[in-house]
Amino acid sequence: MNTFSALDRSTYIDQLKDNTFDLLIIGGGITGAGIALDAATRGLKVALVEKLDFASGTSGRSTKLIHGGLRYLKQLDIGLVREVGSERAIVHKLAPHLVTPEKMLLPLIENGTYGYFATSLGLKVYDVLAGVEGDDRRTMLSREEAIKKEPLLRKDFLKGAGYYAEYRTDDARLTIEVMKTAVRHGAVCLNYCKATKFIYEQDKVIGAACLDEFGQQAFDIKSRFIVSAAGPWVDNLRKKDKSLSGKHLFHSKGVHLVVPKERFPLQQAVYFDVPDGRMMFAIPRQTITYIGTTDTKFEGDINRIRTNQKDVDYLLDGVNNMFPDVKLNYNDILSTWAGVRPLIHETGKSASELSRKDEIFESPSGLISIAGGKLTGYRKMAERIVDLVAKRFCKQFDKDIPDCKTDAVVLMKDPLKDTDEVHDFCNKEILAKVKAKGLKAEAATYLVLNYGKNATTILDNMKATEMAPEIALALSELHFGIHYEMVLHPNDFFVRRTGRLFFNIDSVYKLKDLVLDEMRKQFQLPNELAEKYAAEIELALEEATHFPVDAVKENV
Ligand code: FAD
Repeated sequence: MNTFSALDRSTYIDQLKDNTFDLLIIGGGITGAGIALDAATRGLKVALVEKLDFASGTSGRSTKLIHGGLRYLKQLDIGLVREVGSERAIVHKLAPHLVTPEKMLLPLIENGTYGYFATSLGLKVYDVLAGVEGDDRRTMLSREEAIKKEPLLRKDFLKGAGYYAEYRTDDARLTIEVMKTAVRHGAVCLNYCKATKFIYEQDKVIGAACLDEFGQQAFDIKSRFIVSAAGPWVDNLRKKDKSLSGKHLFHSKGVHLVVPKERFPLQQAVYFDVPDGRMMFAIPRQTITYIGTTDTKFEGDINRIRTNQKDVDYLLDGVNNMFPDVKLNYNDILSTWAGVRPLIHETGKSASELSRKDEIFESPSGLISIAGGKLTGYRKMAERIVDLVAKRFCKQFDKDIPDCKTDAVVLMKDPLKDTDEVHDFCNKEILAKVKAKGLKAEAATYLVLNYGKNATTILDNMKATEMAPEIALALSELHFGIHYEMVLHPNDFFVRRTGRLFFNIDSVYKLKDLVLDEMRKQFQLPNELAEKYAAEIELALEEATHFPVDAVKENV
């Protein structure tokens, strides 16, 4: 079993070169990670390559909710609501520290998306479809009760509210934990390794030529079956396979803004109407509140998606309409992120009208591609793909592949059992350690929600130095990230393993030189690579905090 250490890349590359796999997955977002785990736990020999970092595509830029998709109920997509609704409970059970319950307030307003009776009935159906039980079942609130729950709500058009259960996560961390679990079950997964072209034998795809970005090494990976889980890039790979025909992708851009909690002191998460008839989330988290999302057709470069002024104006207007006393403006924005949804095109439909269902494409060469879907539904998407592979396996190699079992595969080596155990672990064991190390109490929650029981390892490995404890903690996290989570570039650490760029951007400014120095030592980075990494950090900071005026060919 591989350790998933970035310092062992050459071993993983040798394994990829020297073996013929049952399944090669292209794309290291949540979809690819889910497929790798499902296939590995059914006994298949699995390889996965990701061209940049794991979760650097859409899976690190979502609203970070594991949710039942209330809006799909409005579109009468009952099957989708049922599937993602029941998946929420399963994913929560598999990683209770990472997928945590979050009560959501849905204000009812004059001429809003949802009326009182439709909401009451809709949320009830939602609870039934999702199998929600006990205190988590929806309640309907009067105007006064709604104001008590969230005093910042606009009062003049408020009529009441629905109050229901959702789950919050960190999408990139969920992806990395699923990937690590796949690796524990024998999958070989490599980041910064691009599939550049397919290899064919008698018109059937039998592998992919790959390029390792770090060592600039080109090599081939051979596999019986190949799945493209390349998210927004799925059509690029279908094009390489000369099978891009019929249905194709529609890229829809979604932006989130982060503001300090003092400027938008929400008591609780709210899913609210915006003036154009869409709905948005505002979610308090640690010391910030984040707001999102937009949903606009995107025709720019999917390798470089940026928040622009039009996105910011839309989101600020939406918040200021529902929370008029807050008066958010550009100066309040600490950070932003932007991503594109890989949706399936349907003639005549706008971005927000398109279904979020996933779609599987099978090409004459044998390439299987999957796109669409939700973070929340990753496990079921993976099951469908591996069922298909299993069927072909049986036909071609006369070998039976067992059924999916990932509903019982926990996402941590040493898991916390449930929400109560998460709270106990955080408030007793970790809080005491955090205090003993001279850290602020809030570090306990941050560490447990990010790392589960690995919070102990990270705290125990903090070096006694003259540095401030926050810095010693970050360096210990970096060490953990490099040795157990394939951190290769500083931004892997700042953006996807710790969420610092979004949720604690000040710490990135403080830590960037130290982190780079440490990585320079650990990887013996030549100067030119260290300079490239330094530039990458500056670019990420610039993109999170500056918003070009021109919408280029975006926001159509
Ligand atoms: P990606 O995460 O994009 O992964 C594809 C990967 O393939 C990329 O990392 C890319 O680098 C890699 N790749 C591409 N080409 C190659 C190649 N040639 N070689 C190697 N690798 C390659 N869902 C929810 O359930 N809850 C939410 O709250 C939610 N909010 C959202 C908000 C926004 C704004 C957006 C955009 C989406 C949201 N979603 C949400 C949807 C969810 O994020 C996506 O459905 C999901 O992340 C898609 O994952 P993926 O793995 O298919 O794609």
